[in-house]
Amino acid sequence: YIVVIFIISRLISTIGNSKPWSASLSHNNKLLALDVAGKLLVDPDSLKSVSSDFGHIVKEHPKAVLCPSTTQDIVSLIKVAYNDSIPFSIAARGHGHSTRGQAMAHDGVVVDMSSLKNHRNGSGVTVSGNNFSGFYADVGGEQLWIDVLKATLEYGLAPLSFTDYLYLTVGGTLSNAGISGQTFRYGPQIANVYEMDVVTGKGELVTCSAYKSSDLFYAVLGGLGQFGIITRARIALEPAPKRVKWVRMLYSNFSTFTKDQEYLISFNGRRQNGALNYLEGSLLMDQGSPNNWRSSFFPSSDHSRIISQVTKHGIIYCLEVAKYYDDHTKNTVDKELQQLIKGLSFLPGLMFEKNVSYVEFLNRVRSGELKLQSQGLWDVPHPWLNLFVPKSRIIDFNNGVFKEIVLKRTITTGPVLVYPMNRNKWDDRMSAVIPEEDVFYAVGFLHSSGFGNWGDFEEQNKEILKCCDNAGIKIKQYLPHHATKEGWINHFGSKWKTFAERKAQFDPKMILAPGQRIFNNI
Ligand code: FAD
Repeated sequence: YIVVIFIISRLISTIGNSKPWSASLSHNNKLLALDVAGKLLVDPDSLKSVSSDFGHIVKEHPKAVLCPSTTQDIVSLIKVAYNDSIPFSIAARGHGHSTRGQAMAHDGVVVDMSSLKNHRNGSGVTVSGNNFSGFYADVGGEQLWIDVLKATLEYGLAPLSFTDYLYLTVGGTLSNAGISGQTFRYGPQIANVYEMDVVTGKGELVTCSAYKSSDLFYAVLGGLGQFGIITRARIALEPAPKRVKWVRMLYSNFSTFTKDQEYLISFNGRRQNGALNYLEGSLLMDQGSPNNWRSSFFPSSDHSRIISQVTKHGIIYCLEVAKYYDDHTKNTVDKELQQLIKGLSFLPGLMFEKNVSYVEFLNRVRSGELKLQSQGLWDVPHPWLNLFVPKSRIIDFNNGVFKEIVLKRTITTGPVLVYPMNRNKWDDRMSAVIPEEDVFYAVGFLHSSGFGNWGDFEEQNKEILKCCDNAGIKIKQYLPHHATKEGWINHFGSKWKTFAERKAQFDPKMILAPGQRIFNNI
């Protein structure tokens, strides 16, 4: 009877063999007894495909890749690890769009969640509910948000809260938060989930919600994959609009820009007529064109007058809003939008408008991705830094970071986002960490670099973090990455104790999501 760790060590000698794991270990009764034995791959191509991510900064080789066809396969795998005297680590991999190896498992097993898709009945998205109690979709954790959107639109429904980019999995974004311009009003994606099926680090399949196994429910939402693998989530839906009025306004003054943003997000009732559906903001700097891969909003005929403002001021701040409408509201949408915008202080004449379909709006980043892919510029290093900054220090952040570091270093090439959200749309019982203030800003430095020079961006990122530290700006990282245990304890602050207790409860052998480097490998 051979322990699993021995089996894994045997795998070293099987690398190069493209047969499933079981084929080279047929003598092993324990693994042969498992349904998953034939679904573990150890060939170099399979291992390579899960050894890097969108960040292209970290590389970690697992010993095997599990291609599950059922939730039970995941249960079986985790049980083997949990019951072994020397457990091996396991990472769920959604779409691998992390930037720091978060979905990797050094010497462990990566669960390729996408494999579940091929075995679901229909689309893997089931819509239920009614007008009285509300609508929802039961969605596989492996599903991409674009597919959830497409499937729910068939019923004239859609989720309320999205990410800017829809080719991310439900399990992947719910492990972080899932934020975008809708968050100020509808909350992050984690605040729009009713129920989940989760396989814990003990190999137990648990259905959890705010009313049932609620500790696990809140732990998993924003839990960085530490407590279990999400195999199903029940997502809130509402009737989908048809079209979107999409507006951008330019500012040279950061104080007026943020004042206007904060004014607009104060209209945030979920059912409040007249309120915006989306609000974001970004920096325009001397980068050749006011457009970037994330968006090609500005028509070329407007480029020269926008660029002249950038040349004059160094940084121009772009406030971006959207208002949805359908056949019932098409005659009032313009009036409502004008009402909201009329007191704003953007630069005269520098307001730009588009009228697009709802899907075109939500899927706005995809065309930029396809263009970069065709130029070979998508699979490059992405030394991203995402922060939450308290409202009370956002002006200091502009002066110390945007003006003193980003503008002066002149290396920033990708989009820089800055937009506020309301704390009361988040649920503090969840694992996600945000600043203490009622309003805080998401700031995203979404750098792309060449393979040789991502170190320059890392230097800039470090300088930004140091600047905040020195100035006492109590930022929190979003999609966090910390190199030390102390860093993680600081990150979670008053939530650390609960986070660690939940880990001991749901994944006591610290099997899951080792690539986050919170409990393992530090
Ligand atoms: P992966 O990278 O595969 O996994 C991320 C983490 O979640 C890992 O720790 C993994 O083990 C864990 N995990 C994956 N699946 C599961 C599961 N089923 N159950 C439990 N744990 C799981 N984020 C935003 O909030 N808003 C945005 O607008 C946004 N835009 C983005 C645009 C681009 C181009 C990219 C590359 C990323 C963007 N992100 C955004 C970040 C993104 O939400 C996270 O990186 C997310 O984790 C990626 O999802 P994924 O499916 O690729 O997850």
